Amino acid sequence: MRAPARGAIPRVGFVSLGCPKALVDSERILTELRAEGYVVAPSYADADLVVVNTCGFIDAAVEESLEAIGEALAENGKVIVTGCLGAKGSVVKDAHPRVLAVTGPHATDEVMRAVHKHLPRPHDPYTDLVPPQGIRLTPKHYAYLKIAEGCNHRCTFCIIPAMRGDLVSRPVGDVMQEAENLVKSGVRELLVISQDTSAYGVDIKYRTGFWGGRPLKTKMLDLAAALGGLGVWVRLHYVYPYPHVDDVIELMADGKILPYLDVPFQHASPRILKAMKRPANAENNLTRVKQWRSVCPDLTVRSTFIVGFPGETEAEFEQLLEFLEEAQLDRVGCFPYSPVEGATANALANHVPEPVKEERKARFMATQEKISARRLQKKVGKTLTVLVDSVSEDGAIARSAADAPEIDGVVHVAPHASLKQGEFAEVRITAADTHDLEGRVAAKR
Ligand code: SF4
Repeated sequence: MRAPARGAIPRVGFVSLGCPKALVDSERILTELRAEGYVVAPSYADADLVVVNTCGFIDAAVEESLEAIGEALAENGKVIVTGCLGAKGSVVKDAHPRVLAVTGPHATDEVMRAVHKHLPRPHDPYTDLVPPQGIRLTPKHYAYLKIAEGCNHRCTFCIIPAMRGDLVSRPVGDVMQEAENLVKSGVRELLVISQDTSAYGVDIKYRTGFWGGRPLKTKMLDLAAALGGLGVWVRLHYVYPYPHVDDVIELMADGKILPYLDVPFQHASPRILKAMKRPANAENNLTRVKQWRSVCPDLTVRSTFIVGFPGETEAEFEQLLEFLEEAQLDRVGCFPYSPVEGATANALANHVPEPVKEERKARFMATQEKISARRLQKKVGKTLTVLVDSVSEDGAIARSAADAPEIDGVVHVAPHASLKQGEFAEVRITAADTHDLEGRVAAKR
C-alpha cells in the first residue's frame, strides 16, 4: 500500500454497515475527518487508510462485517474497525489480527485518535472548512437525527444495552442546533432515532436545556414540538407505548409532526412479552392503538415483531395473529427469532425449530399483507402530500406521510414536469397494491 506523499492530503476510505444509528455514527466520523482536513477516498486503492463501521446485531451482520474488514485488509492493508461488532469482545481481532485498532459504537473520539496515530492529520487551515450540517450519507432531502444512545431496558433477545450501555440523551440544544443546520442545508424530512425515543431525557431527569435563547426540556414531547416548528416533516422512530406518548399523538393530530409512529411491539402474548422482558403488555398496546387512532384518525402505525421466540407455542403465535387482525397496523416487519450471541433468551427452553419459525413468519406476513392491502385500498381517490425521492423518465418514486424511507412502501407517481427530487407534491392516488400506491400529480405545493 502506498504511503501519502509528503505534503499530500491524507485520504481515508470509509465503509459503513448496519442500522440508521450506525449510519449516524459514520456521519459523525466523516464530519470530523473532513473538519480536520482529511479527504474521503472513493476506493480502497485511493485511500491511505480505511475505516470500517460494523454491525454485530445478528449472525448474518457479523459475517458481513467480518467479510468487509477482510476485503479492506486485502485491498488496502491499513484498517481501523469501529461499531457494534467492535464491542463484541475479541471477535474482530481473532478473525483479523492485522487491523490497526478496534472500537465499539458511538466512539468518534477513539476512532479519530486511532486515525491520528496511523495517518497524521494535515495542517491546511483551508481544508478545515466543513458544512455546518456535517457530512451525510442520506440523500440531501432527508436526514436521521439521533437524539440518544444506549438503552435502559434489558429485552432478553437484544444485546444492544451490553454493546452500547445505558441511555445517554444528547443535550436538547445540540439536537435542535443540528436539526436547524440540516433544515438550512435543504433537508425536508427529519427522522428522529434512538434505541428508545420515548425515554429521551429520562437519564438526566428531563433537564431543561436551551435553544435559541429559550428554555427547552430534554423530553420527547418538547423536542417533537420544537422540531415541528422548523417547517419540515418530522418522523418519530422507535417509540415505546408509554402513557406520555399520548401527548405526542395530539401534536400529530394538529399537523405539527407527521402522523406516523414506529412502535416495536415485538409480540402480543403476555407470557412471551414477559419472557422477552418487554416494557409493555399486549392488552394495553391494543387499547393504546385504538385510542391513538381516535385522537388522530390519519395515524400510520408501524411495528416489528419476532416469531418463533423460544417457547412460543402455536396458541401463542395465534394470539399474535389475532392481535394483528384487531390492531390493523399499517406497516409491519417480522423476523424469525435469531439467537444473537450473548442474548439471555438463548438460555430459554424449547427453542422453536427453524422450519416452524419460517412457516410462522409466512403465515404472519400473509395475514399482514391482507391488512396492508385493505388499508392502502382506502387511500385510492385521496390526494396526498408526498416527498419526491427520485425522478426518472418513468415518473417519480415518492413517499407520503405513511412511508418512512427504506422500510415502508412508496408512491409511484406518473411522469410530470413539476416533479423534482427533494420537493413536495400533491398527488391523487389512482391505485394501490399490497405495499405501494400509484398516483398522478394533482397540484404543486
Ligand atoms: S428496548 Fe429492548 S430491544 Fe430495544 S434496544 Fe433496548 S433492550 Fe434492545
